[in-house]
This record gives sequence, structure tokens and C-alpha cells, in this order.
Amino acid sequence: PTRADITYFGAGPAALPTDVLETAAQALLDFNGTGLGIAEHSHRSELATNIINEAKADLASYLDIPASDYEVIFMQAGGTGEFAASVYNLVGAWVARQHAAIIKELAGSGADDEAAVVAALQGRVQTQLKLDYIITGGWSLKAYQEAVRLLGPEYVNIAADARTINDGKFGKIPDQSTWKLSPDAALVYYCDNETVDGVEFPEFPAVLAPKADGTGPVVVADMSSNILSRRVPVANYSLLFFGAQKNLGCTGVTVAVARRTLLPPTTTQPSPALMRKLGLPIPPIMLQYETIAKNNSLYNTLSIFDVYIAGQVLKKLLKTYPDKVDGQQAVAEKKASLIYAALEAHPEVYRIVPDKAVRSRMNICFRVTKNGNVDDTEKAFLKESVSQGLTGLKGHRSVGGIRASNYNSIPLEGAEKLARFIEAFAKA
Ligand code: PLP
Repeated sequence: PTRADITYFGAGPAALPTDVLETAAQALLDFNGTGLGIAEHSHRSELATNIINEAKADLASYLDIPASDYEVIFMQAGGTGEFAASVYNLVGAWVARQHAAIIKELAGSGADDEAAVVAALQGRVQTQLKLDYIITGGWSLKAYQEAVRLLGPEYVNIAADARTINDGKFGKIPDQSTWKLSPDAALVYYCDNETVDGVEFPEFPAVLAPKADGTGPVVVADMSSNILSRRVPVANYSLLFFGAQKNLGCTGVTVAVARRTLLPPTTTQPSPALMRKLGLPIPPIMLQYETIAKNNSLYNTLSIFDVYIAGQVLKKLLKTYPDKVDGQQAVAEKKASLIYAALEAHPEVYRIVPDKAVRSRMNICFRVTKNGNVDDTEKAFLKESVSQGLTGLKGHRSVGGIRASNYNSIPLEGAEKLARFIEAFAKA
């Protein structure tokens, strides 16, 4: 088959727009008539800097990121690296805040020498340092496990676990009134869209909203699989991150959007020596947001090709949707509704896995059964779908079933084609 024959519903890496790939293919050979390809030019060249700056500005424009308050950082660690980076950096920021507060409290008390400050800080770390995790699927679970691995379980709190209300399985989001949030947590973490389980937060969790005076929890969200598909209330977050390989571009670049008050000069990461005294880890330099931000994402060699692709995708989005992300959001919702409606029309064959209230618009997870036989029916569903050019529909290996990843690069006609196939397969 050729590209034109296929609609690819894989969960990531996802399909990229063909015109973006055509431009990128040419740029790999010869970037803008320089005689040298984009992957060969120095990351320190002016053209590389321009690519980074334009991609940052276009992302900020498309998502309405208040540029004065947030830093957009390109990194290379993947979503998985950000599980660690969020822990390291926000524990550092928490320690920095406590450190400053203790110095203020002890000032002039007569017991304000460095040893007294460190002793007070050690006490505070032991009694008050907590990271809160809302576990709603495989990816937030992995992030939680990484925090436990890096810090130790004593510092990590499961504020909510969806499995406790759904027979040990994911597919629901626990009512926010039941979340056990810690006072002054170093972070409250959740995954906005669970790629494996098809669970998406319908909106920003109100319980985490900032108070009228602007203070509030330090909210971190993983938006790897739904970024650029709906409006994000950026000001509610201290940090959001996403790998590029679903809605932004190709594998190899990860974006962190970090509130500037977490970076210098407002907050400087505590010194390695202090963190060692506290028994807490410091980040590898390439996961330290302040270092990467200070160097405009070029502390070390960054794949400019990957940033270029992301930049081209953003330019295409901005051109296609004059109302920016709101335009894409309307299309994403329409595509998801079409596919869910086709599934709902045949409850005798299809079972949508997650609860209706938390169904993902991006990863549509369902089971297929005929005559009580799931395995053979799903095999037949996959085989026939491939023969019609609908590929990548196999569910994640950990949960099985079918998963239609309905990312931005799936055109409306692709979603319509899948909906028609779902209909026809049920009737056949
Ligand atoms: N978070 C989410 C929501 C994901 O879907 C994925 C990967 O699919 C990750 C994190 C991990 O990303 P990476 O493979 O880039 O480390």
C-alpha cells in the first residue's frame, strides 16, 4: 500500500501530515538552499535558533500560553524522562521555598546559623514533604512509580487511585471530593489523557484550581497524548509536558511548559550539597529545567530536525484554524463523537471500555464480541480493518482489545471511514 491508501490509528508515534513530511524530506537534503540538510546544520547556528524560537512562539500563540509567565523548553527525555524531571525540579523548588521561609522565621532568633537552618529544613522534609499523584491509568501509574523509585515511598502519596472504584481496573476518575490532597504538596500530578486506557479528564479538575489570591496547588500534567487538541487553562499549571510523537511531531523531542516563578531568579534549585544533607536527589543536568531554559533549550545538542517538524505542524495548524486550538478542538470532538456513536449503535457487538463521562477523544478503547467470542472476533476485526486501509487499531499489549487513536492528523474523512467500518463489521 501507499500512504494515500492508509489511515493510521496507531497510538504513538502517530501519523504526520503528508505535506509536512514532504517539506521535511526536502529539508533533510537541503535546507533552504544552503546545500546542507537540516539535520546537519549546527544546533548553534542562527537558523537553528530561529527554528526553535519560531516553534516556541507558534506553540505559545496556538495554545495561548502567557509568554511572560511561562517558559517553553524543548528536551529529549520523552514523557518518561519528564516523570523524573518533574519530581527532581519540583522537589528542588519546594526545598527552595522552605529554605527561604526558614531563614526568614529564624532570622534574629539567635539560632539562625547555617546548621540550625539545615536542621530545621531536615525536620520539615521529614514531616512535610509530599508529592501527590492522581492515578487514572497506566501512564500516571508509571509516573507515580518513578517518584517512589527516586525519592522513596515515604514522600509519595496516592491522592486517588481509579482502580479502587472500578474492580481493580482503570476506566473511571474518582470523584474529586474523595481525593486525599496533602497540604503544600511539592506537586499534584495527573495525566490529562491516559493513552493506554482511553481515559481523559473532561476538564481541568476544579479541586486543583488556584484560589482568588492566585495561590494554589503546584499542578503538573502529562499532556503527551491530547496536547494541541483542546484549550488548556495554562495559568492553572505549574508544569505541563508532552512528548511530540502524538499530536506535535515526530519522536525525539519533548516539551515542558514551566511557570517562570519555578525558575531563577525567583527560585533557584538548592545546591547539590544541601540536597545531599537532606537525603534528596538532584537532577541530571539535562533534566534541570533552569539549565535548559537558560540556554534556550540548547544546553546540549538538540535534534533541530525534530523541532523543525514540530514547527511545521504548528504552522499548518495555525494556517488551518484561524481560531487556533478552538478550531482543532471542534474537529477532534466531532471525529470522536462519530466513532463513539458508531460503537454505541451496536451494543450487541461493541463494549466501550471506559466510563462515558471520562472517555478519551484521542484514544478510543473498546472490545468486540460476537457469539460470546472476544478473541476471534477482535482478530477478525483487525484483519478486516487492515484490508480496508484502517491500520494501527490493536489495543496496548497490557490491556488488549481495540484502540483507535484519533489524533489531530486523522482527517475527518478518516474518522468517518472508521465509523462506517465499525457499522459494517457489526452488521456482517
Ligand atoms: N505519557 C503518556 C500519556 C504517553 O502516552 C506516553 C507514551 O506513549 C508517555 C508518557 C511516555 O512517553 P515516552 O515514550 O516518550 O517516554
